[in-house]
Amino acid sequence: LLQLYQPLNFLGVVYRELRQSLTDLENIQGLLSLRPEIEDVPGARPLVVRGGTVRFENVHFAYDERRPILKGVSFEIPAGHKVAVVGPSGSGKSTLVRLLFRFYEVTGGSITIDGQDVRAVTQLSLRRAIGVVPQDTVLFNDTVAVNIAYGRPGASREEIEAAARTAQIHDFIASLPEGYDTRVGERGLKLSGGEKQRVAIARVMLKNPPVLVLDEATSALDTRTEQALQEALERVAAGRTTLVIAHRLSTVIDADEIVVLEDGRVVERGTHAQLLARHGLYAEMWRRQQEVREEAEPGGMVPA
Ligand code: ATP
Repeated sequence: LLQLYQPLNFLGVVYRELRQSLTDLENIQGLLSLRPEIEDVPGARPLVVRGGTVRFENVHFAYDERRPILKGVSFEIPAGHKVAVVGPSGSGKSTLVRLLFRFYEVTGGSITIDGQDVRAVTQLSLRRAIGVVPQDTVLFNDTVAVNIAYGRPGASREEIEAAARTAQIHDFIASLPEGYDTRVGERGLKLSGGEKQRVAIARVMLKNPPVLVLDEATSALDTRTEQALQEALERVAAGRTTLVIAHRLSTVIDADEIVVLEDGRVVERGTHAQLLARHGLYAEMWRRQQEVREEAEPGGMVPA
């Protein structure tokens, strides 16, 4: 039996290694979204960010021309303001972000930053100007310090620590036996969803972009983690033009404007209070979310 087991065990190791390499590759591809078919237009200039006003103007888009996804979406995020996009699953929220990064091109209308069409500027300058706190942060198989420094390669240990403090993850890192030299990722220490998001926030602090996209995680976090995360998100968003893609509604209450997307169209917009008073789709989504929270944490704090 042992003779049979050993080769099988060896195959298992090979299989795991192979799978791991594939996962790393996928992660890196997902991160950089390598889409070589999108190239800079001849004579593309670097994006010049003044305040960082982002404008979606009558945006149309389809991944497959037979199935339109965005059907004339318009809204503006004035420089330094925070706009949240909410809407049912599949309504096109994440697609808006992919278009802002120009991972895909709009099929109609335009997206501009300080008046410059994202199709007319160099992709490098566009991606430098926008920071993302993604739903699921990819960690490299390296130390915590290196993972944070990904936001700005060459950052000093002091800068990395300062970013981690703002992101409210410093104390956690300091409590690890090897501190900032602890290895994380698939082959190292596994971080929770909330911890990974805080690493992403620290990366953004180092990158210091004028425009920020917060892609809120779908999975619910416990109330304490959520509160710590909210504080960190508020700090990183301060003073930046911020687009929040909200899969839950916890980060949208304080947004300057909430845009409600349904089936690729803007169906409502306003502040949290205005939208509740409308008793429309947003109010319904809010009510349903409160019910879920009440069930999960009876008698718990409910944000008002
Ligand atoms: P969720 O809240 O569930 O994340 P969403 O509002 O962000 O949803 P999108 O991810 O923007 O929705 O997707 C909008 C629609 O586009 C969906 O119907 C989805 O199936 C489709 N879609 C998304 N990505 C692709 C793709 N790469 N190719 C084809 N269709 C896609």
